[in-house]
Amino acid sequence: MAIATLLPATTAFIQRAPRMLIGAEWVEAADGQTMPLRNPATGEQLCVVPRATVDDVDRAVLAARQAFDDSSWSRTRPRERQNLLWKLADLMQRDAELLAQLECLNNGKSAAVAQVMDVQLAIDFLRYMAGWATKIEGSSVEVSVPLMPDQQFHSFIRREAVGVVGAIVAWNFPLLLACWKLGPALATGCTVVLKPADETPLTALKLAELVQEAGYPDGVFNVITGTGITAGAALTHNPRVDKLTFTGSTAVGKEIGKIAMDSMTRVTLELGGKSPTIVMADADLGSAAAGAASAIFFNQGQVCCAGSRLYVQRKHFDKVVADIAGIANAMKLGSGLDTSVDMGPLISARQQERVWRYIEMGRESGATIACGGEQFGPGYFVKPTVIVDVDQQHSLVQEEIFGPVLVAIPFDDEADALRMANDSPYGLGASIWSNDLAAVHRMIPRIKSGSVWVNCHSALDPALPFGGYKMSGVGREMGYAAIEHYTELKSVLIKL
Ligand code: NAD
Repeated sequence: MAIATLLPATTAFIQRAPRMLIGAEWVEAADGQTMPLRNPATGEQLCVVPRATVDDVDRAVLAARQAFDDSSWSRTRPRERQNLLWKLADLMQRDAELLAQLECLNNGKSAAVAQVMDVQLAIDFLRYMAGWATKIEGSSVEVSVPLMPDQQFHSFIRREAVGVVGAIVAWNFPLLLACWKLGPALATGCTVVLKPADETPLTALKLAELVQEAGYPDGVFNVITGTGITAGAALTHNPRVDKLTFTGSTAVGKEIGKIAMDSMTRVTLELGGKSPTIVMADADLGSAAAGAASAIFFNQGQVCCAGSRLYVQRKHFDKVVADIAGIANAMKLGSGLDTSVDMGPLISARQQERVWRYIEMGRESGATIACGGEQFGPGYFVKPTVIVDVDQQHSLVQEEIFGPVLVAIPFDDEADALRMANDSPYGLGASIWSNDLAAVHRMIPRIKSGSVWVNCHSALDPALPFGGYKMSGVGREMGYAAIEHYTELKSVLIKL
């Protein structure tokens, strides 16, 4: 066992009871209320953070509103926005180990993995978005204006920052999800109020320190910590917010979408998933089994596009399932600070209980637990689990579990695989494991999901739009698609 040593800066950050950033000030909640954060690996309290009130949220939105409408920020040129974002990315690189340790302590994930995945992906993404800051273009159009045949016109279309962005994110990739929103917002010239998940605000608060250090004007980035029910709801209802961007469950996303429609606030929603991994008979079975295991067990299965449904062509079903069970049985569970560990705890006792309920439901309905199916503590651990002998309509197959639980079903042919893969309310990602180019190309257009991976799963790139079909959301993050979601078009017609 090799336990990573905490940096003095990590311990100091946690011991000083981090506060929220509103405008230029680091503040407690207006009523002094706090909420405890727990280390998921031990269940012990880490520290407390402010539990924001509705007033706190209103002040944060006002600060963002003023920064957007009145401050020097609204006059920054693209090059300055590019340089600031690049500077922020450099500061994150400097503090990458600290950010990864905070993510580990607060979320439970491996610190080593967080440093090369969560933190590095966030840095790369901000640098990618820094590049867009200088490439946001409008266009000019030659117009006819039929009702004024004798007039000449000059016409052009501007792409303008949408304004104040209210960003609400989930706990599974706290820093990365925050940066997926911060990047396009700051590249386009918006201002932001971020509400991290109740359980995992630490890296968002550290990020706010780095935004200040990078030299962003006060109010451009504000972070409020608190509950979804109070702080999240207050942000969603605030009339000064121009755009809401949400990552979380489909249930909450639907509510936010309805509220946004009511006030015509712009909205993008990144929601749940139940993504299929399809293994065709001709696939390289060794890499397919390893890939399918990683697709579901990475980040303890708490990944929106996790490959949580496995479909294997019948003649290889038993072998692929046995191989995945072998990988699962060999996984070492423990604290994310232990570099020899393969899987950490779930985020909370509540999530552990939720995942456990699904496993019990499987047992009670006669499904076979091929491996795992155990929980233990202290900390919120569930062993990587594979369940077979389940029907396509079973809740285990239809509902998002959001934990290290894989359900596996055999299929007979391509049509059968496509039918079951698409038989889901969700449509975030899907992977096909095959070397038959013709079959792969036949299947890609017929899969109803925002991403399709071939011979890999959950591979992301800042240039590739990410988001969902169906109940997995509205809009896309990353790529130029994100820039479109953080801007409005303005048509200008000048009579000459
Ligand atoms: P959640 O919906 O419970 O919470 C997400 C965020 O919304 C949190 O910050 C929470 O405080 C806030 N919130 C809760 N109730 C609210 C309300 N009434 N008004 C405003 N805000 C509110 O989700 P979760 O359990 O934190 O996250 C897990 C879910 O997130 C899973 O469904 C997962 O698939 C999804 N997710 C999706 C993506 C994606 O990109 N599609 C990425 C990560 C996670």
